[in-house]
Amino acid sequence: MIVAADDLLDWVADREALLIAAWTPAIERATGWERPFAEVLASELQNAMVTTWLNGGSERDFLRLVAQSNTGLLTHVEKAIAGRFYDVTLKLARAAVRHVRDHRSTIMAYKYGMVVGDGRTNPSHLTLQQVLLPKTHPFWLRFQPPFGMDCRCGTNLMTQSQFARSGRTITSDTDLAWIEAQLHDDWPSDFLPLLDFRKPLPIAIDAEPKVHLTAEQLAGILAAFR
Ligand SMILES: [Zn+2]
Repeated sequence: MIVAADDLLDWVADREALLIAAWTPAIERATGWERPFAEVLASELQNAMVTTWLNGGSERDFLRLVAQSNTGLLTHVEKAIAGRFYDVTLKLARAAVRHVRDHRSTIMAYKYGMVVGDGRTNPSHLTLQQVLLPKTHPFWLRFQPPFGMDCRCGTNLMTQSQFARSGRTITSDTDLAWIEAQLHDDWPSDFLPLLDFRKPLPIAIDAEPKVHLTAEQLAGILAAFR
């Protein structure tokens, strides 16, 4: 299956330095290598992901490409590290791309939380499924999932009329305070610069830019013509 939409590929290619900085300490811990060697592997993995997607490949192609690069690791260790890199990086890219799409959508007014809720779900994430808020609510800049490498939580959007038909109500501030106290984020600190899905995006501007001048600025311009 080809997973790489152009915007996912763009994200992984654009975040090269941040991905290497985030993954290097994780690879150091997993391999016991010195930092420069871990950094080289992080860079190779980022490169292999971009190359794989440029060629329309999947995770299997990525793992094959990594296997050809002679990392010097035992096969199962290499596969575990590379597989982790692929899954988590794809998760980050998908969340970032989705964040931009959510932001651009003009008819989708509300956002609600979705939790898988099986045995692998972190119990502290379960309260997310009670959250339904306007899409622009600041809660989403603090608690937009995923909450960590293994988190499978997500969000979805609904229109004003879908919201009316759903019979649901907006989460109250009191409930939200309680929910926020339950939710735990476990991204390693090295990954925080990659959490684009919590970064505010610029408000869409009118297609035709309008220039607003203060009376003082206008007087200044007019004075130049006198
Ligand atoms: Zn989760």
